[in-house]
Amino acid sequence: MAFERHPLVAGNWKMNGLRESLAELGLIAKAVAAGGAGRAEAVICPPATLLMAAAEVCRGTPVALGGQDCHTEERGAFTGDVSAAMLKDAGAAYVIVGHSERRGRHGETSALVCAKAKAALSAGLKPIICVGETRAEREAGQADAVVGGQIEGSVPAGAPPGNLVIAYEPVWAIGTGVTPAPQQVAAMHGFIRERLGALFPGQGTRVRILYGGSVTPENAAELLAAEHVDGALVGGASLKAVSFMQIAGCYKAGGPLDPDVC
Ligand code: PEP
Repeated sequence: MAFERHPLVAGNWKMNGLRESLAELGLIAKAVAAGGAGRAEAVICPPATLLMAAAEVCRGTPVALGGQDCHTEERGAFTGDVSAAMLKDAGAAYVIVGHSERRGRHGETSALVCAKAKAALSAGLKPIICVGETRAEREAGQADAVVGGQIEGSVPAGAPPGNLVIAYEPVWAIGTGVTPAPQQVAAMHGFIRERLGALFPGQGTRVRILYGGSVTPENAAELLAAEHVDGALVGGASLKAVSFMQIAGCYKAGGPLDPDVC
């Protein structure tokens, strides 16, 4: 049975942002409250240091917040780490897990990402589970095998599919200004959708699949219109309210992704 998924545009601020950056979040919150993201849900994932203050800024607005990573345990002797329960307590509703910068630079395996996703769900957060191949893997014809393996290894079996978000982020597109063609995005998202169908029989269509990697106001409409794309995970362009809202605004009534228009 077809299921109507709520589009999602999430901003990943990475290790960027001081208290003064909350002014941009304030502009985003105001614009989203005024309908600037249309039928899309808007989420900003600031650094953990800003979460509590960001929650104050977003209070009473439709903008949700997310963490950028979490530990597998709820508490304990893990110096420097942040648990999913702590993110939730600080005001987060989502958490990114398995970003390629963590898989690559921190050696995170899919098994660890899966444990983090489980911890997120137990704490009442929705995990945004990132997957994506490197350029070398794509050129070797291994993109499907790599992404398929990451999906199987990172997505917790038995999780409520409506609380899961997958972000397909080809590593070669992150922060490079290079993006796949919309047909390549549609093909990979279709492949991921199939895999989710196998993992969650009859329920796989409940999982949202975002595209991430050099999404900008200029290319957003084309990438977001690709088949099986339910939104975007936006890095650099989410740091400024104007560019984030131009991307989220694709889902506004009368915008390029308004189902009554397109
Ligand atoms: C990201 O790191 O999740 C990302 C999508 O970055 P950018 O949009 O800057 O490529």
